[in-house]
Amino acid sequence: MFYICSMENFYLSDEEMSEYLNSIGGLCNGYFTDKGPIVDPGFFCVSNGWFGLIKSLINDLTDLGWNKETTQVKEKFGGLRFYINAGSDEIHQRIGQAEKDSYTVCEKCGEPGELRKDIGWYFTLCDTHHKLTKNGKTKVSFDYDGTLALPSVESFAKELVNDGYDVWVVTSRVGDDETPNLNDDLWGSCERIGIPKHKVKFTNFADKIDFLKDRGFAFHLDDDLYELTSIMETKDSCQPLNVGHSDWKINCLEVLKK
Ligand SMILES: [Zn+2]
Repeated sequence: MFYICSMENFYLSDEEMSEYLNSIGGLCNGYFTDKGPIVDPGFFCVSNGWFGLIKSLINDLTDLGWNKETTQVKEKFGGLRFYINAGSDEIHQRIGQAEKDSYTVCEKCGEPGELRKDIGWYFTLCDTHHKLTKNGKTKVSFDYDGTLALPSVESFAKELVNDGYDVWVVTSRVGDDETPNLNDDLWGSCERIGIPKHKVKFTNFADKIDFLKDRGFAFHLDDDLYELTSIMETKDSCQPLNVGHSDWKINCLEVLKK
């Protein structure tokens, strides 16, 4: 009766999941029944790749007469766990099916995945996210003016986003709280590349290393020698790379061992 198509992608953004939860009036908190409905996808302690699985599970359970009370949803030993207070055998069977299906779906991106046991903890991941998690170099940073604003850098950043890298913009610019439209060019680039707003840091002319330090960035690409030098001097694991160098792209790929 319930069948998951292997060609389907199960990724939903936080916004999409929140919209869905609101559209069904949310779920009920099985511990604190006096609390308001659950409409925040943060309740599900799993990554977005599984949100589609959870959505179709909720739809099917509701059809089966579930009272929408959940006590906890999380990842355990690489698989989805969906806890409820009470339900029929059919309801429990459907939950069992979703938990089993989760071992075939990458928790990060919703593409076909498998259980990986060689990365310190159990995770169900696709080949790309397995590789990324294994070498640990998934987070990269770009300056904007004179760097990401260049079409060649923009298309490289887009490639990285498409490959599942965590791409950030760290710029000396001032945010546009005070002056509207100040950064429209920057937001336009981010939209084309697929960088969400919360991954843009305006340092407001402070040294970029103050932000980059200890945050696990693999590299920061910039055209400002002062910024690059101050990153180098801290000996942080973040590699300062100069976009003015003709081999900038090769150097980035070298750091990522792509
Ligand atoms: Zn993946």
